[in-house]
Amino acid sequence: MVDMDKIVSLCKRRGFIFQSSEIYGGTGSCWDYGPLGVELKNNVKRAWWRDTVQNRADMVGLDASILMHPRVWKASGHLDHFTDPMVDCRACKKRFRSDKIDDEVWVHYCEATKGNKFNIPGGEACKHCGAKRTLCPACGKGELTEPRQFNLMFKTFMGPVEEEAAVTYLRPETAQGIFVNFDNVLQSMRLKLPFGIAQIGKSFRNEITPGNFTFRTREFEQMEIEFFVIPGTDEEWHQRWIDERFAWYPKYGIGKENIRLREHEKDELAHYAKRTADIEYLFPMGWSELEGVANRTDFDLKQHAQFSGKALEYFDEESKQKIVPYVIEPSAGADRATLAFLVDAYKEEEVRGEKRVVLNFHAELAPIKIAVLPLLKKNDRIVETAKQLSVDLRKRWHSVYDDTASIGRLYRRQDEVGTPFCVTVDVQTVGDDKAAADENVTIRDRNTMEQVRVPMALLPAVMEKLMAGQWSEVARESGVKRDQAQAE
Ligand SMILES: [Zn+2]
Ligand SMILES: [Zn+2]
Repeated sequence: MVDMDKIVSLCKRRGFIFQSSEIYGGTGSCWDYGPLGVELKNNVKRAWWRDTVQNRADMVGLDASILMHPRVWKASGHLDHFTDPMVDCRACKKRFRSDKIDDEVWVHYCEATKGNKFNIPGGEACKHCGAKRTLCPACGKGELTEPRQFNLMFKTFMGPVEEEAAVTYLRPETAQGIFVNFDNVLQSMRLKLPFGIAQIGKSFRNEITPGNFTFRTREFEQMEIEFFVIPGTDEEWHQRWIDERFAWYPKYGIGKENIRLREHEKDELAHYAKRTADIEYLFPMGWSELEGVANRTDFDLKQHAQFSGKALEYFDEESKQKIVPYVIEPSAGADRATLAFLVDAYKEEEVRGEKRVVLNFHAELAPIKIAVLPLLKKNDRIVETAKQLSVDLRKRWHSVYDDTASIGRLYRRQDEVGTPFCVTVDVQTVGDDKAAADENVTIRDRNTMEQVRVPMALLPAVMEKLMAGQWSEVARESGVKRDQAQAE
């Protein structure tokens, strides 16, 4: 397993993810997706949207606004329950979660050793005097306040006047935008149960202890589904969605050994949930949640019906009865999924005594699909041909042209950003004159470094096959040059 520092440094060096506002010293736990990061994350979201919305007859999409009526958060329970218990240090003013404070390393000035300072692991006692932590773990001197509930929602004001009546919140989850639109979607699309509404969008939580790179951030992007079912069929649908979503990550390259399901214990279930299973990924910091699949029952629709005074029901033609559907919610993080795909793709290997770093992305997710490289950048006809080729390929796949280094360096550079295929134009391609040109180009596979030579005219058709994972078929048909290039 690669450590997080390596991923963070590769992400910065290669334009995937940057610290937000870095020139000002950075903002806590905010990250910016760079040119390759935005491609990767968009590809993750696109694959999710296609698989969960466009390829299913029982799903539709939605894009609700981030700012909602403040009553939404009263009805959903977020105003009252979406809190963490906090304590403050009276001396250094640092703030801690009272339920997590004993996980932290604590500073101790020990009487038994003339007041020497020690850093003691969380939950452990001092070896010299046997004391346990009672004071502030950070400064070791300050008394702590009683725990107070701290709401995790970001508060702001709607309009120009900063008064209590204008208070509103940045949504802490996209789900509520779906619930409040339940009737709009149901009526306008004339849907029959069971059906689902999906949404991708930003959410905000004022986490006290964000961290682990893009894993826990205060601003993040969710990919959520609310799937409405007839009560009584909810347990079966819940299991179907757990299985479906668990199978999704390996489909795009996550190693099966790095993913697992974890059932929530009764005492960790959210206030609305009947059962929740987390899909966890083995991140560098250990097993952590990638996606939660919850049975939210009819809690949300009933709450909004009560608080808004509008019925949120479904008329069942068969039983001639109005029912309030149950809701199954697969809730995934776009940033977490992107991070998991990055971590899982990272490979280091040795090729002829040199370290090679490869991001082994699924072709669908790779930020760049094809790099077109000239073998000699001093040869005008090679350069011209390669540039034209990249223009043509761009119409169908995200492609780049690069001639800023020797071919060996160019290959390594593409390996490190996960480009599945490189196309090289060489002297034989263009010949000394038009008559001598063989008009073939070399395609190199990122993972195996194998090469095939194919006619330029066939490149779009061949690429179509290669993107679908048919390297061996293409190699068999081309019948030439399956060894590594001399240049590598
Ligand atoms: Zn303190
Ligand atoms: Zn001590």
